[in-house]
Amino acid sequence: STPRLLGPAEIRVLAAELDVRPTKTLGQNFVHDANTVRRIVTTSGVGPDDVVLEVGPGLGSLTLALLGVAGRVVAVEIDPKLAGRLPQTIGEFAPDAASNFDVVTADALTVTPDDLPVTPTALVANLPYNVAVPVLLHLMAEFPTLRTALVMVQAEVADRLAATPGGRIYGVPSVKARYYGDVTRAGAIGKHVFWPAPKIESGLVRIERTDPYGHDADHRLRTFAAIDAAFSQRRKTMRSALGAWAGSPARAEELLRSADIDPSIRGERLEVDDFVRLAQAAQTAET
Ligand code: SAM
Repeated sequence: STPRLLGPAEIRVLAAELDVRPTKTLGQNFVHDANTVRRIVTTSGVGPDDVVLEVGPGLGSLTLALLGVAGRVVAVEIDPKLAGRLPQTIGEFAPDAASNFDVVTADALTVTPDDLPVTPTALVANLPYNVAVPVLLHLMAEFPTLRTALVMVQAEVADRLAATPGGRIYGVPSVKARYYGDVTRAGAIGKHVFWPAPKIESGLVRIERTDPYGHDADHRLRTFAAIDAAFSQRRKTMRSALGAWAGSPARAEELLRSADIDPSIRGERLEVDDFVRLAQAAQTAET
């Protein structure tokens, strides 16, 4: 049977029972709208073959909807009070799926595959907003088995993640997310589906992993260092922005030229491919 989902009344009861006072630092806003969680799950495209990693299950709103379609769900929640209550909620609202569910009390910023009882294939999460980008990038790096990610974040962060080169909002998160594959905006979500309602609108972002550069930690770290350096002073040309990273502006110019990049342009015009070539040029010059 399909799981029962949490509406405003259920959220109120659970929050009262647990004496939850949603904390801003942990980005605790709980979805109390069944249509929203159904929409997130449909958009994610996960199915019975998937093991879903959910970050920040909270009171279980999205978890229950995921258990209706996914083969398994493993949830990572930092708040022990919320994590501790989840199995009971699942047992009550989705008894048939209870054996397909695991919860781990851990920080998603540092969690690794060894911490989980199963190997996840898809990330679906309503992310804690203050750490959304670092959590997303950490998980894409540490869990190469994630073939897809569908996350809900602040609308503005969703725009930045999905931005393409040339625009004002294109920056570090946009390039780093693209290192893993295709990134697209996948819908908007209003504030009133949450309790408590946040001040800002939310949006969905999807990453389809293609791993064009494989998954080698050293390659990633070198490329990401070049990206961080290029955007550390957005208004500057690549030649001067990369001065410290390369050792000197002259050296930066040399590396840029050998990577076939015009030293007089700004980072916001460059694709992830350009940064990969730049990091490679720097490594070749080192050895
Ligand atoms: N998924 C639930 C929903 O949609 O109603 C709750 C989403 S709420 C925006 C974010 C959740 O992430 C909260 O339950 C919070 O306790 C949890 N959280 C915050 N920081 C975390 C972290 N670093 N690692 C894991 N969970 C975290």
